[in-house]
Amino acid sequence: MNQRLRVLIAGAGLGGLCLAQLLRRAGVDVLVFERDAGPYSRAQGHRVHLDHRGEDALRACLPHHLFALYEATRGQPSERLMLIDAEGEHLREIPVPPLPGDTSIIKRGRAVSRSTLREILLAGLDDVVHYGKALTHYDHDVRAWFADGTHVSGDVLVGADGIGSAVRRQRLPQARIDDLNIRWIGGKTPVTADIERSLPGGLHNAFAAVTGMDPAMMIGYMRFGNPPRATAERLAPGLRLTDTEDFVMWAITVQRDRLTVADAALPASDLHRRALDLTTTAHPALRRVVGRAWPEHTFHLSIGTSVPVPAWDSDHVTLLGDAIHAMPPSRASGANTALSDAADLGRHLIDSQRGRGSLPEAIGAYEHTMIERGFAAVESSTLAIDAFARKIIR
Ligand SMILES: Cc1cc2nc3c(=O)[nH]c(=O)nc-3n(C[C@H](O)[C@H](O)[C@H](O)COP(=O)(O)OP(=O)(O)OC[C@H]3O[C@@H](n4cnc5c(N)ncnc54)[C@H](O)[C@@H]3O)c2cc1C
Repeated sequence: MNQRLRVLIAGAGLGGLCLAQLLRRAGVDVLVFERDAGPYSRAQGHRVHLDHRGEDALRACLPHHLFALYEATRGQPSERLMLIDAEGEHLREIPVPPLPGDTSIIKRGRAVSRSTLREILLAGLDDVVHYGKALTHYDHDVRAWFADGTHVSGDVLVGADGIGSAVRRQRLPQARIDDLNIRWIGGKTPVTADIERSLPGGLHNAFAAVTGMDPAMMIGYMRFGNPPRATAERLAPGLRLTDTEDFVMWAITVQRDRLTVADAALPASDLHRRALDLTTTAHPALRRVVGRAWPEHTFHLSIGTSVPVPAWDSDHVTLLGDAIHAMPPSRASGANTALSDAADLGRHLIDSQRGRGSLPEAIGAYEHTMIERGFAAVESSTLAIDAFARKIIR
């Protein structure tokens, strides 16, 4: 075996943690630096749709017992995007306009609780993940610097620091993010019998965009395959999962000018009140969903997309996930692609540690496929936003 590699990862999001899991299992020295003060310092989102791309990556990266826990707790099949018309007395399903050259908007997959997934990805990494460490810049030899004035040296730096990536700003200053002018207030509401009765039956295996109302909304169920806490006790003793109840995820989507910068910074419970204000004239079934939410889980997001850049010369600093190819959520591809990047990069780095090729060769081979996969997903997600979402978001 060659000398043990030290890999520094900026960002403990889905991609960074998935990579850390794989490297750790293979005996690579890995350190993750996260800007947030702790794992629960902000609401992490509600539901994510994972298809075979994300699940294959999780299978490759997680230790067996954690992948088993993922499989046992993931939600119901999520097979299609549906459109719900909220005009009139009853919510009713209407056809989704076809996308040019493509048959379905999302690949068949599963609904997954984002916070459960994140907790599984964090399991066993207590000594690897360091919170309150916002990367500011790096030196080329490779040394990462943080906002608290400290620094750490390694052989490789991976920017897994999301859409506003500090690593990308320095590594590829020419790479730009376009603001799509869409703002998203999201939340979670426990599933009750009356909520279920009032939502269209077809929603059970779908994810829905609601049109015919102002503002537009997105909704979907998250029903755990098995009770999360008891399943964790059985498969990963000591790991305590936070989400315990099935929920409806909802999101209100509006044009940027309808939410101020101050709205974006509101604490979760005030943001929930803002969501209620925005839905005063919504269909009663949808207003009920927003009204019965757990207010502390409300969060705000701006939707942006990466502008693809031509391939670059590889060195010891690379990027994965949203840090290099952020995309709108229209085709549920961002997390799937970030997880695929993690599995791919991890495999190349491990090969390099085992003496199969130099580090720049390993990173170059990863970047070659990552650029193709990531920017293709950006293009198809942006096409989907343009084809129908822009028509319903006012
Ligand atoms: C509303 C919405 C719904 C979505 N739904 C889906 C879906 O259903 N399916 C799907 O595949 N994708 C979905 N996506 C996309 C998906 O969420 C992202 O693509 C995915 O989270 C990207 O993972 P990541 O690890 O690259 O970045 P992130 O998950 O954003 O993680 C980045 C991490 O880096 C940290 N960080 C930021 N800056 C620094 C810094 N300077 N130093 C240290 N740490 C830093 C952040 O705090 C964060 O923890 C959705 C996106 C949105 C906005």
